[in-house]
Amino acid sequence: MSIPISPADQPGKRTLVDGFFRTVTYLRVSVTDRCDLRCVYCMSRDMTFLPKKELLTLDELDRICSAFVARGVRKLRLTGGEPLMRRGFLDLVRSLSRHLKSEALQELALTTNGTHLSKYAADLAAFGVRRINVSLDSLDSEVFKKITRGGDIAVVLEGIAAAREAGLKVKINTVALRDLNEASLESLVEWSHAKGLEITLIETMPLGDTGEDRTDQYVPLSRVRSQLEKRYTLVDLPDTSGGPARYVRVAETGGRLGFITPLTQNFCETCNRVRVSCNGTLFMCLGKDDQVDLRQAVRASSSDVLLNEAIDTAMRRKPLGHDFVIDRRGQSPTLARHMSVTGG
Ligand code: SAM
Ligand code: SF4
Repeated sequence: MSIPISPADQPGKRTLVDGFFRTVTYLRVSVTDRCDLRCVYCMSRDMTFLPKKELLTLDELDRICSAFVARGVRKLRLTGGEPLMRRGFLDLVRSLSRHLKSEALQELALTTNGTHLSKYAADLAAFGVRRINVSLDSLDSEVFKKITRGGDIAVVLEGIAAAREAGLKVKINTVALRDLNEASLESLVEWSHAKGLEITLIETMPLGDTGEDRTDQYVPLSRVRSQLEKRYTLVDLPDTSGGPARYVRVAETGGRLGFITPLTQNFCETCNRVRVSCNGTLFMCLGKDDQVDLRQAVRASSSDVLLNEAIDTAMRRKPLGHDFVIDRRGQSPTLARHMSVTGG
């Protein structure tokens, strides 16, 4: 049981501190659960999306993000689903950019699959977005098509080029998948570093039914790292974003490489983040189902009193850690919800 010590209980102090003295300064918000791709580790081919009326409106998204910024969130990442598929997304970014101008917010970032980046990169940069994460799991067009169930890598590569041209700092996110891309991760690292891009490798997390056996997909990154170490010198870096990533410098390329290993390494003690799903559910931990309904709080009143109360409740309930499991017996995911709803 966590002890309610949130400073929200103490008049005059409004920063977000949980029951384990961790300060929450980073919010990830999924703006839609829809996507134009169907990555094998993320969604099933015939994924059922939420009814539109359940999604937060752009105004509600703005209100919730702004409430968190007022409570000390310094970094906001918009994600999905595919955020660039949300109608009016640029209006939301433009509106939220007021918090960058006031310097309440340090960073407004985006995670995208890159398929619509060519169109939006320049506007994103104009509204103050400086860094984006682009998911790219293979450089081979056929493998890319297989992993995304139909995606066109050329469009994504054009998007990355447009983003760089617009001055955005691009980080590549790559999910390691046993039979699909494990053997070619080295070339993705080389490619990224040759372009001056950082790359982060991610272990598959058991979120949502994808219509595929996860035990077939899972590769421990410890194995990937050992493999990379046969060829490269990996120098551990002390860098941290308060999240699950651990970083190394690849001596031969000079580039930075991240490892996100939620399953083989615990990262929870330093967790500084919470997530809001596209239907306004606040998840205090990506790996737990406990949740607080912010949509109800927002829709019940035009003042933010109820919203702030709901956020305080969530802070008291933020758990110490997660309990993801992928084992040989289990076909079913640990958590029923998909990453596309919660936001990766
Ligand atoms: N559509 C955008 C994209 O692909 O970047 C943003 C949303 S996606 C859910 C965010 C990140 O979550 C991506 O980097 C994706 O690879 C990752 N992801 C999705 N499902 C995952 C899973 N089950 N395990 C690990 N990473 C996952
Ligand atoms: Fe879409 Fe991103 Fe999920 Fe792939 S990982 S299906 S691009 S939301």
